[in-house]
Amino acid sequence: MKRNGAVVSEHPLPGAFTPELLVLQSGRGSRVTDVAGKEYLDFGAGIAVNALGYGRGDLADIAADQMRRLVHVSNLYATEPGLALAAKLVEDAPGAHFSTVQFTNSGSEANETALKMARLYAARTSPDGESGRRRIACFSGAFHGRTMGALSCTPTVKYQEPFAPLIPEVVVLPYNDVDTARDQLDSSFCGVIVEVVQGEGGLDRMDDRFAATLNEVCAANDIVLIADEVQTCLGRTGRLFGSELVGLRPDIVTMAKPLAGGLPLAATLLPTKIDELLQVGDHGTTFGGGPVTCAVGASVWEIVAAPDFVEQVANKGEHVAGALSALAAKHPSRLGERKGVGLLAGIRVLGDVKTGDGDASEPAVTRLMSALREDGLLTLRSGADVLRLAPPLIVTLAELDEGMAMIDAAVDRLPDS
Ligand code: PMP
Repeated sequence: MKRNGAVVSEHPLPGAFTPELLVLQSGRGSRVTDVAGKEYLDFGAGIAVNALGYGRGDLADIAADQMRRLVHVSNLYATEPGLALAAKLVEDAPGAHFSTVQFTNSGSEANETALKMARLYAARTSPDGESGRRRIACFSGAFHGRTMGALSCTPTVKYQEPFAPLIPEVVVLPYNDVDTARDQLDSSFCGVIVEVVQGEGGLDRMDDRFAATLNEVCAANDIVLIADEVQTCLGRTGRLFGSELVGLRPDIVTMAKPLAGGLPLAATLLPTKIDELLQVGDHGTTFGGGPVTCAVGASVWEIVAAPDFVEQVANKGEHVAGALSALAAKHPSRLGERKGVGLLAGIRVLGDVKTGDGDASEPAVTRLMSALREDGLLTLRSGADVLRLAPPLIVTLAELDEGMAMIDAAVDRLPDS
């Protein structure tokens, strides 16, 4: 392994990681510090995970207390933290039809669970128990995860190609295309999986009309409508659940990233109509919903579900949107359309820049992100060319302004195409 300041290369992590990795060692609020002592304002938040920021003594105490008391029981038993968090999620879920929660450990697994439930629902409601309704619809630009089922619904060639064959009977439809959805979705489908904001695919937001169409077509054909809220849950869009933003009425909601303050916890919210079909042993998980993650999760939920917390996120989101629009107006040759919503915001960064290696060039967004990192701002990309900003939800307006000023200065320094 080689070290250059806080950057390691030739590291013992797989080739699917970036060859040069920045090594971080601590964090407080919306800032992290690398092993060389340099501080960064973090608008990536561990890919939209660290909603309540870093260095949370309150959450650390809960985790430590729970670890001392009881660390793990498996799903052969229940614990109070797991029961309490499941009850809270059901109570606050977007719709009165939710009755139970299947906990797992990652967004992929939460979606995997949801896809399995759609197949199970179709099979167990068909008169002969052998449903012909096996098709699952996903949408262009979607990202639902890396496990085989979730990956099969993630139609990006780079992610899928080396792993073929994927699961059968998955149909990709164009996102936000009302007519195609109406035309194609029929009773040969058991499930539809969709994001309200495409977190990885370029931050496109679902149109209200598309949401209404999915509600209607899925209800008419008894298709299980799955909202992948792995990235949009817990207030990130300025609503507690992103589905509320566009009027989507999902049968199943999946949640993950911010759920346990940075610890791995995911949830698949199930409706009564599916839960009552489940038999003991149909699905399971060893670690999912353990007492430590759920104890922390219950505390995170209490903070985020307080009404003014989400309202504040919405206000911060408006602030970011205004700042991004101003930047786009100031740098029209470099910055394009504003994307996303709330604190899952972004802007299209136009064109390529020369790398200095002959005629080779790289997307301007890539250059911008490295420049920002040098300057002390961590950001994310979404899709091919969108700079994605997903700061901790507790970020202050002053910190947002500080980050925006850094983006402004870094865009100014971008070389010509
Ligand atoms: N769904 C969405 C919308 C996501 O953004 C992600 C992760 N970026 C996933 C699913 C997969 O989550 P995980 O990496 O925890 O498996």
